[in-house]
Amino acid sequence: MTQATSKPLLGCIADDFTGATDLANNLVRAGMRTVQTIGVPSDHQAIEADAIVVALKSRTIAAQDAIAQSLQAYAWLKAQGVQQIYFKYCSTFDSTPDGNIGPVTEALMDAIFGHGQGFTIACPAFPENNRTLFKGHLFVGDVLLSDSGMRHHPLTPMTDANLVRVMQSQTQRKVGLVEHACVAAGPDAIRARFQALQAEGVGVAIVDAISNQDLLNMGQALADVPLVTAGSGVAMGLPQNWQARGLLSTDLQADTLPQASGYQAVVSGSCSVATNDQVRHWQQAGQPAFAVDPLAIAAGTDVVQQALDWAVPQLPHGPVLIYATAEPDAVKAIQHQLGVAHAGELVERTLSCIAKGLVQAGVRQLVVAGGETSGAVVQALDVERMVIGPQIDPGVPWTSVRSSVGHGDTVHITLKSGNFGTHDFFTKAFALLKAIGT
Ligand code: ADP
Repeated sequence: MTQATSKPLLGCIADDFTGATDLANNLVRAGMRTVQTIGVPSDHQAIEADAIVVALKSRTIAAQDAIAQSLQAYAWLKAQGVQQIYFKYCSTFDSTPDGNIGPVTEALMDAIFGHGQGFTIACPAFPENNRTLFKGHLFVGDVLLSDSGMRHHPLTPMTDANLVRVMQSQTQRKVGLVEHACVAAGPDAIRARFQALQAEGVGVAIVDAISNQDLLNMGQALADVPLVTAGSGVAMGLPQNWQARGLLSTDLQADTLPQASGYQAVVSGSCSVATNDQVRHWQQAGQPAFAVDPLAIAAGTDVVQQALDWAVPQLPHGPVLIYATAEPDAVKAIQHQLGVAHAGELVERTLSCIAKGLVQAGVRQLVVAGGETSGAVVQALDVERMVIGPQIDPGVPWTSVRSSVGHGDTVHITLKSGNFGTHDFFTKAFALLKAIGT
């Protein structure tokens, strides 16, 4: 067995929270022990991991703010001693004409290579998730990005699938293309193309990929490239480079978490189709569930106390579910009465206070359903970093955190974004945690 180094090898900057977890999940599956931080940590305490993912919320903020936060994350990662930087964005290249993918890429290049210097790639492809890139054009399933639902996205409508053109509109550096035939020919061919493009003055190369093998070829060619910009797919090809150099163990189980203890609970604020199925499945199995009524919150009822009074006495007997999850018609009716944003805020605040109360009462295994809900809960629990563990369902791993709310104990927590997970996700999650503890 080769020895793992003590310093982290890969430092990642992710432009949103659930995207960060998606990347961390891929790195763990490819053999890297991974820690995700919520924002840029305020201290420089060394992190024991092979990869660190700094989760920002910089996708749709003003470009200069995204640049400032990303550079701060870069400086912190550099101080951790990482060997390679990975700027992670969405697999549908979510950006506005002003950025932020181009401006952040350029700022990182200026910091790493010097003003106007250097070379990197851009590749959102993730074939396993039906995001492929061919002749510089991004496909979502069978259709071009510009024909997919992304053309109607409220914040980042994507109306051009030609990523050479999209990236060129966001950056001063010259943008080029590594075509699929070259990627399929292997790492040497890709490296030769990188050199040829640099000789032509190209600073950023869009790289085609339509299969996992393409990602692995690309990964090898990127071994000595200091900055990679990509979706989460390209990360699958990077660990092999450190394994080949003996810097990363080849037989390390990267998803090991400490044994779980304490009570179990689910807090669900997602109203997505999959979550509605999961809540229904839980109730049909006769498991205890408490519904949070947004109108009662708005009327001033202490719903947090009611939910905790209901939940805490039964925690010793098994897991409980507290949910605001509702079918679309019910959600619309509530939004109509309270306003969309106000309803969302009320429910998020209530559920995060309930989650906090549950952890104070001894819950140490917590499932949270909903992207925004997860953000609110993680904030209420004062979580700064998450160690990424085994995958429950694609894109959703268990993690372990330390929370001052839980007296500094280890809390196992999983954050499930809306449409992820099979109908039995909640019970499956606890069963998996039990299995890894035995
Ligand atoms: P998802 O990942 O499924 O999109 P989110 O947590 O990101 O879930 O978003 C769901 C939003 O809906 C949150 O702001 C939540 O507070 C809100 N919400 C949850 N339940 C209700 C409800 N019954 N009525 C209105 N809004 C709700």
